[in-house]
Amino acid sequence: MKHDFQYIDESFADVQLLHYKVEGFDELTLQQKELIYYLSEAALYGRDILFDQNGKYNLRIRKMLEAIHMANGIDKETENYKALEVYLKRIWFSNGIHHHYSYEKFTPGFSADYLRSLIKMVDPINLPLEVGQDVDSFCDEIFPVIFDSTIDAKRVNQSESEDLLLTSASNYYDGVSQSEAEAFYQVQKDYSDKTPVMYGLNSRLVKENGILKEKVWKSGGLYSDAIDKILYWLKKAKTVAENEKQIAVIQKLIEFYETGNLKLFDEYSILWVDDVESHVDFNNGFIETYGDPLGYKASWESIVNFKDLVATYRTKIISENAQWFEDHSPVNSRFKKKEVKGVSAKVITAAILSGDLYPASAIGINLPNSDWIRSVHGSKSVTIGNLTEALKKAAHGNGFMKEFVYSQKELELIDKYNDLTNDLHTDLHECLGHGSGMILPSTDPDALKSYGATIEEARADLFGLYYMADSKLVDLNLLPDSEAYKAQYYTYMMNGLMTQLVRIDLGKELEEAHMRNRALIAYWVYEHGKENNVVEFVKKDSKTYVRINDYAALRSLFGDLLAEIQRIKSEGDYETAKRLVEKYAVKINPALHKEVKERYEKLNLTPYKGFVNPQYIAEWDSDGKLKDVKITYREGFTEQMLRYGKEYSILPPINK
Ligand code: ZN
Repeated sequence: MKHDFQYIDESFADVQLLHYKVEGFDELTLQQKELIYYLSEAALYGRDILFDQNGKYNLRIRKMLEAIHMANGIDKETENYKALEVYLKRIWFSNGIHHHYSYEKFTPGFSADYLRSLIKMVDPINLPLEVGQDVDSFCDEIFPVIFDSTIDAKRVNQSESEDLLLTSASNYYDGVSQSEAEAFYQVQKDYSDKTPVMYGLNSRLVKENGILKEKVWKSGGLYSDAIDKILYWLKKAKTVAENEKQIAVIQKLIEFYETGNLKLFDEYSILWVDDVESHVDFNNGFIETYGDPLGYKASWESIVNFKDLVATYRTKIISENAQWFEDHSPVNSRFKKKEVKGVSAKVITAAILSGDLYPASAIGINLPNSDWIRSVHGSKSVTIGNLTEALKKAAHGNGFMKEFVYSQKELELIDKYNDLTNDLHTDLHECLGHGSGMILPSTDPDALKSYGATIEEARADLFGLYYMADSKLVDLNLLPDSEAYKAQYYTYMMNGLMTQLVRIDLGKELEEAHMRNRALIAYWVYEHGKENNVVEFVKKDSKTYVRINDYAALRSLFGDLLAEIQRIKSEGDYETAKRLVEKYAVKINPALHKEVKERYEKLNLTPYKGFVNPQYIAEWDSDGKLKDVKITYREGFTEQMLRYGKEYSILPPINK
């Protein structure tokens, strides 16, 4: 079956939606398609978990707005209504009322009175009211959350002077202060335990009658309705798994969801890391901790995928040479792994995205996150080839590089090498960077606290940057020549020093760990190379540009910083982590920020991209056996959101 395929779907606010192509799906065996179908269902049923994790009012607000969207008799051509529609789409995109990247609460472009008038036109049976609640008291409860900019202003607050939990709107803690939560988890840590579970990963910490307790996300616990659906589909997936290893992986995940026991999650992770032969693979669970300012609680996400065998060649070569890279890094030998284990890597084709990977998605993933499992059993690292491809296709010729790159010389470098060097940097970051180095046995893995994520990302990025310029990559045929790395160095510095600011509102600071990491690296090497004019800002026609004068010196600065960042991580040097991040990675030069934003706005581009899933349609024969699974790309973002809201919204609007 042939499909008319278009990458670009719709745009609104600061986002653009893209379709991604699942190349190779039609060539899979029926059993593999069936497996993907079941795992996709398991993925989509978890979506509402993330909405609730991101804020306790999110599900009610979304369901209320969806009810308005479906109601009859509302004039949908007014400015007010169009503003409401954008607000709803932004909530869909961000899985809640806060921006997916900046964590700021959205400001609605319509009034409270207008919203109240619409709500009154909806049949109350379609509204997410509590038992006995009338429409007016519903509005009185919810409206401050929507309209008062001082309430739940941020999903994740990282300002170090404030109580990070009480000032964050995310729903991982209830009535618990930062010091109470830190103390709660501190006493659980046993430093003699060589295989500690990730404390607090799968629960909400609440205070009831003055006593702290965890409400665990599991079957029979919090989010049970969604988890039971996930379990139903995982059990079906198990019946069509590819091999014994994969059956064991799925079985262990089922047991984890049934019990909430984090030891079982570790056992699952070890089985999962070990399964490198299966063609189809997936994650489904509580994985990344970026949404918790303290880094304990994991947001729910899922991706189902299969191997892209051709593109996997590149990451295979990198992985096979992992020990060489570890041995030759500029890091102090005390902090190096004597034996780098099991850095498996592959390029995958995403088949479905959900939870914290949807619609905005990472393009490279390295899991599991448990430090001890990574060092004993290694990790699996993937680059998501078809998402990267969609991004490249959508960005081609949009005028961005022409506006911000200093001269024709750099533009030519970028044209010639950037697609390749970008992919390679992602591979180095994921396959080697995160897996490199080791923390000293006496160091608390959480010693860097709220700075830990930024330092970890900087470590992985620097590992990649340092090696981009190494002749080893040319020897391994991963780069065509010794000029190519310059494309990566230039775009990295331009982004870290300037252009990533297009994503930040004027007057705000950098918050997100990956953005902080890029600023940290770029400004640190800029400062430390100043004396020799390694990198400079130059003005041309009153516009600011980044110029790199000495690429070799830049590489050695990346090496110096890598050594220092690894030392900070290995020794758990909180004070230095804090000093570096606060000095280089938080504050923004307001004049430069304003200029970059203005130049960017003239290009009429959207800084954030997200993805629309394909739809899988199962065909059954008369005795209930699966005949085939068809893939279609016909559905647009809005239709998809409405369908998911109808078919997969299984959690109650309030989850206590
Ligand atoms: Zn990373």
